[in-house]
Amino acid sequence: MSEEKLLLLSCCAPCSCGVIKKLALQGRHFSVLFYNPNIDTASEYQKRLEENKRVCEKFAVPFIELAYEPQVWAEAVHGLECEPERGKRCSTCFYVRLLRAAQYAKENGFTAFSSVLGISRHKDLAQVNEQGRKAAQKAGITYDETNWRKGGLEELRRALNKEMQLYNQTYCGCLFSRRGKNEEIS
Ligand code: SF4
Repeated sequence: MSEEKLLLLSCCAPCSCGVIKKLALQGRHFSVLFYNPNIDTASEYQKRLEENKRVCEKFAVPFIELAYEPQVWAEAVHGLECEPERGKRCSTCFYVRLLRAAQYAKENGFTAFSSVLGISRHKDLAQVNEQGRKAAQKAGITYDETNWRKGGLEELRRALNKEMQLYNQTYCGCLFSRRGKNEEIS
């Protein structure tokens, strides 16, 4: 049997920190991938990227950044702009990011890929997993469906957020989620 080598797709530090710490302490062989073309501005993208890097450095975990491709994302969700959160735009958004992760994993000798895209209670985990399975099938690699909300990870995540004073964004990532948030606030 080949040695495990897991690729973990991360959206941001606050969501991924607990999983990164747990896997690192377990001595698991894994890397973190940052591919988030959904983030609406370059400055927001950079902030989330740097924070995620900081967590990986703390636990000596390899961090891989792919190119920031907002145009790829915009083309993919074209026509779905008015969808609510958890609707078809989000399914497409998950698929775009998970497919890129699956392809990268396949091309770079990973045995499986997983993600923390469904870790927040604001997300529909079943919706994320459905897109993960589709991406896995397309790329020809295993999708690890571990539920990263369980096994004490929520507590670990909260503690690390506090300890590291991680930048905690107030919206999911795209322009439409920022607008929705602003409407909720106003
Ligand atoms: S709300 Fe989040 S998951 Fe949905 S499309 Fe926007 S960035 Fe993607």
